[in-house]
Amino acid sequence: MANLDVNSLQNAKKSIPIPPPSPQSAATGYPCEYVVMNNLAQRGRNSCVSSATRDLWERLFNDGYKADVCINTDNGGIVYAHSNIIGVASPVLRAMLKQANRFNRWRTISISGVPHDAVRVFIRYLYSSCYEKEEMKEFVLHLLVLSHVYVVPHLKRECEQKLEMGLLTIDNLVDVFQLALLCDAPRLSLICHRKIIQNFKTVSESEGWKAMKQSHPVLEKEVLESMIEEENSKKERIRKMNERQVYLQLYDAMEALVHICRDGCRTIGPHDKDFKENQPCRYSSCKGLELLVRHFAGCKLRVPGGCGHCKRMWQLLELHSRLCADPNVCGVPLCRNFKQKIEKQSKKDEIRWKILVEKILTTRGIGIASCFRTL
Ligand SMILES: [Zn+2]
Ligand SMILES: [Zn+2]
Ligand SMILES: [Zn+2]
Repeated sequence: MANLDVNSLQNAKKSIPIPPPSPQSAATGYPCEYVVMNNLAQRGRNSCVSSATRDLWERLFNDGYKADVCINTDNGGIVYAHSNIIGVASPVLRAMLKQANRFNRWRTISISGVPHDAVRVFIRYLYSSCYEKEEMKEFVLHLLVLSHVYVVPHLKRECEQKLEMGLLTIDNLVDVFQLALLCDAPRLSLICHRKIIQNFKTVSESEGWKAMKQSHPVLEKEVLESMIEEENSKKERIRKMNERQVYLQLYDAMEALVHICRDGCRTIGPHDKDFKENQPCRYSSCKGLELLVRHFAGCKLRVPGGCGHCKRMWQLLELHSRLCADPNVCGVPLCRNFKQKIEKQSKKDEIRWKILVEKILTTRGIGIASCFRTL
């Protein structure tokens, strides 16, 4: 287990992006005959593993025929293996075998720190890529660590995939997160990180979280920080959405204003046109704007800064004038006056309005307001 470096836990990124899609299902596992064959076929290899071949490898492991390696495990357990096979399957085991004590044909190595059965499942996988479903469920974290330490990438992928597809729970989430960082499994650590943030209330009450707080306070701090960042970016997204809504409403109001002044709608319209009251109108702002225009026409406090409604109307009229392509045909009152006023405006005001107009048009995804262009 020498490769485990606790300090690498601190490399948890502050802001963690969405994990990329999982690579094509790698290996196999339980009831594996057809899975193995299909996977190989998918990868376009000119070979397929028959159940007979798989059974042969399973028997070789189970019977230990001409085995030459004793693997000592915790609590005095022993797993027998073949040096040729485990040495080819794992470069780390190969190096260990080179330095191992020999007695006659036997070489002895130790794999400790994980349960005996986890070692057995691990070695069996090196032979046949097979395991029992229940054993994977029970030892998935041990197998993840073993696959990392002994450099068995296809087992590592298998463990990551099994965790991702269902073995990851709220209870083991924090443990898996830490292991994923230790075992250099970035996709898995991203997934855990996201799940921790999504379920923070429950996770923060779990034993795993409490243990991590004690053993890796820096990691806890980083998760909390990234949570705050996530919250902030959520707020920012909502703010932008609301802002977008405001711009779209303003654009709609601009269209409705031209529509009221040019065609008339319900109670307001040009004197030379006939309009029908209660006719259906496609502009959602029309009704409110109509009330505003009527108020504006009759308000006694119609000085700038006098009445809130009138102030709003002034702003809408000015905005119209800035969007309007031709004051001769728009029919909106004061459009020309505003155009003249704009020329005398201060730089500061000019910039403010320009930004507003630009935002409205880009939110609508257009270069020029269509209601003005078609006039
Ligand atoms: Zn209308
Ligand atoms: Zn007023
Ligand atoms: Zn105009």
